[in-house]
Amino acid sequence: MAFRRSGIYKTADELRRLVAPGLLTAASLDAVQSAVRPGVSTLELDAVAEAVIRDGGGEPNFMLVPGYRHTVCASVGDEVVHGIPGSRVLAAGDLVSVDSGAQLDGWNGDSARSFVLDDADRPDVVAERRRLNEVTEQSLWHGIAALASASHLNEVGGAIEDYIDGQGDFGIIEDYTGHGIGRSMHEDPPVFNYRVRGRGPAVRPGLVIAIEPMVTSGGIDTVTHDDGWTVSTRDGSMAAHWEHSIAVHDGGIWVLTAQDGGAAGLAPLGVTPVPIA
Ligand code: MG
Ligand code: MG
Repeated sequence: MAFRRSGIYKTADELRRLVAPGLLTAASLDAVQSAVRPGVSTLELDAVAEAVIRDGGGEPNFMLVPGYRHTVCASVGDEVVHGIPGSRVLAAGDLVSVDSGAQLDGWNGDSARSFVLDDADRPDVVAERRRLNEVTEQSLWHGIAALASASHLNEVGGAIEDYIDGQGDFGIIEDYTGHGIGRSMHEDPPVFNYRVRGRGPAVRPGLVIAIEPMVTSGGIDTVTHDDGWTVSTRDGSMAAHWEHSIAVHDGGIWVLTAQDGGAAGLAPLGVTPVPIA
């Protein structure tokens, strides 16, 4: 992934411009969440997300990535990220990760959620996949909570790793990272989901990042399919992916891609997000 080189700290006015595309991105995933069920194809989920983004006056920013023609990435089962929507029909018990992004008035949002579909015939399989999904989502909230009090960005990855290590035997994908976000969907700095030695940039008002842990029920090695996009675990283990775009501002932090700014997710961790003034 190429990162655009630019100053990583946005002005207060630029932070305000990131609010609407963040909410539109959240709305696209809310619609996907309402539509996801056994029998729906990943291409149908893509259409649901695209309609919400275009109705809101935005443009799917994944379509601005050279060579990519869809609104979302939909990664099923052992697929980690970058699954291409298509005719694949979701089945009972499937774990599917949906990554979406809206560009609005030149500014971007980026967010992902994973879902485990009910399967009455395989309660043990569903429970195991829901556990992976819950650990992945909670690792994201732990990373966001760490951002709220961090002095440097590497504290985010440290918090994600510490949380996951305490939950059992899970793998944290290292081949892909989070990123800065603004006028481009992918900007500096990289945001690691594990502890790194370098402190990274200072966390101060104007920093806007997408945190996106990718967690597996097994190993961390990945393979890219012949389609040039889809990334799967090498060992075939299940993978989940959660992502939010978050702004650091004068008053605190605000999760741009959550309708409530992250209040519900952060409350158990003692962090209260503050709206961007
Ligand atoms: Mg994303
Ligand atoms: Mg991203």
